[in-house]
Amino acid sequence: MDDKIISNSRALLQECDAVLIGAGSGLSTAAGIEYGGERFQRNFPDYIAKYGMRDMYSAGFYPFASLEEKWGFRSKQVKLNRYDTKVGDVYLKLLDLVRHKPYFVITTNVDAQFERAGFDKRNIFAVQGDYGKFQCTVPCHNKLYDNESQISAMAAQQADCQIPSELVPYCPNCGEPMMLHVRIDNTFVENSNWHAAKQGYSEFLGQFHNQKLLLLELGVGFNTPTIIRFPFEQFSRQFPHTHLIRLNKHNARSLDTLKTSNLLVEGDICQWLNKLTEL
Ligand SMILES: [Zn+2]
Repeated sequence: MDDKIISNSRALLQECDAVLIGAGSGLSTAAGIEYGGERFQRNFPDYIAKYGMRDMYSAGFYPFASLEEKWGFRSKQVKLNRYDTKVGDVYLKLLDLVRHKPYFVITTNVDAQFERAGFDKRNIFAVQGDYGKFQCTVPCHNKLYDNESQISAMAAQQADCQIPSELVPYCPNCGEPMMLHVRIDNTFVENSNWHAAKQGYSEFLGQFHNQKLLLLELGVGFNTPTIIRFPFEQFSRQFPHTHLIRLNKHNARSLDTLKTSNLLVEGDICQWLNKLTEL
């Protein structure tokens, strides 16, 4: 990676009053949480043989014939990505970079890596939910349930890609099936914690938008660009003291004209963080 990118990044980080981090799936990929390739083949050989799955992302849309099969796959995926995977170096290094400034994180990732890396929970808005919780599919109520012990049991006790029927989770209130607290449609539960985090995000912007606010956008593509990517571009246009650093493997450029001081970098997030934190 170009030294100029590193020195400019360092200057923007040093000069800013606060950092707003926007993170997408590219950051977790850089943390080693690959949804495809060798990692998928190593962890899901039985699922590949039975269903012809290609990667964890597309497998998430597989039309399983039963809840036992659905939770067979889901439990293995959640156990691997949410509970067994260690905290990625990129998350720890990112925390090192921003911990001495006021910061806030908005992310579409549901793997809780920010929280597990030690970012202050009060400063994280995980818009799309958390693999580590269950909600009612209806939903008949707004409560979320920690799922670690149930997920572990499902992952451990499955045979032929199916969990035992008695482990299928049902809502304690209405008896309908439970689902992961991950947004797929408008049944997603937005409880008081979710709304508090959303409020925290808007208060952070309110507090710092007229100061030197650094927008640090990492691994955000075009899956859901209206959550982070487009708003960050808009903030950088709208607020005169705000600068944007965008790192993404592909498609770093903007369709709109942005400040020339912005850094839109097509490159490797690990390499960028390694170089920035090595001095
Ligand atoms: Zn219910």
